[in-house]
Amino acid sequence: MSATILTEESLVGTTGARPGAMGFLTDTTLCIGCKACEVACKQWNQLPMDNFGLTGFSYDNTGDLGASTWRHVAFVEQISDETGQRPTSLRAFQSNWLMMSDICKHCVQAGCLQACPTGAIIRTEYDTVVIQQEICNGCGYCVPACPFGVPELSISDHKVHKCTLCYDRLQDGLEPACAKSCPTDSIQFGPVDALMARARARVSTLQTRGVEGAYIYGDQAVGGTGGIEGLNAFFILTAPPEVYNLPSQPVLPQTKVLPGFTALAGAALAFGVAAILALREE
Ligand code: SF4
Ligand code: SF4
Ligand code: SF4
Repeated sequence: MSATILTEESLVGTTGARPGAMGFLTDTTLCIGCKACEVACKQWNQLPMDNFGLTGFSYDNTGDLGASTWRHVAFVEQISDETGQRPTSLRAFQSNWLMMSDICKHCVQAGCLQACPTGAIIRTEYDTVVIQQEICNGCGYCVPACPFGVPELSISDHKVHKCTLCYDRLQDGLEPACAKSCPTDSIQFGPVDALMARARARVSTLQTRGVEGAYIYGDQAVGGTGGIEGLNAFFILTAPPEVYNLPSQPVLPQTKVLPGFTALAGAALAFGVAAILALREE
């Protein structure tokens, strides 16, 4: 599989973030797959454990983001021979692991927030997106409205849950639990603009060192597309987004509503005219 082609636009990009926005840079080239971030998140937010065994698909045990997994470390094993094809025999150092700690993107234009009919989902003073549990009525409208499949309805309390970017810790001047626990600084927390500048410098360094496929996922060119305008939690990746189960060109579902209604109204009008003409001919 070929890596995403870097363009000047995708490297430079813009965050689209509002002034004062706080967020995450997750540099997957530094991730060692220790899952300390997953555990710290669960511990701080008192989330129950998920599957304690293995999924059978990889060394991963949690599988995906969900109501009780607000950080998820994906393990993507890539095995290929010299020609890039799947090998027929195994040898040492044949596989390559990509590891990536996924999270709610705290989108600049958040589909979940826009779809919520109760006002339970709010944008905080840090420009993060938080679900107020006491207001959520479990209608689930936010679930399909997220282009990244992040929020999930919990069967235990019939409310939707996702990362809060540790809103309570931020209010006390603490960094989020996942960033605090990461031993390699794969997860970095701070002002979005400063993080994006750091990400651009890091991508440039990686490319100089031969990681030519390194790029930023989450600016307005890659990931922050389709009306989303950027992600406050963005990533340095080295393979196409789909390899990490991320959409390459995500779109806010809401942007399709007006064209859909317009097409429906046009079809109804055409049908009505055709019916009237047919009746007149009779
Ligand atoms: S990633 Fe999904 S859940 Fe998170 S802010 Fe964006 S739309 Fe909402
Ligand atoms: S910011 Fe807090 S709530 Fe969000 S994934 Fe990290 S530890 Fe969990
Ligand atoms: S704590 Fe850091 S290094 Fe460990 S899995 Fe999470 S992001 Fe990767």
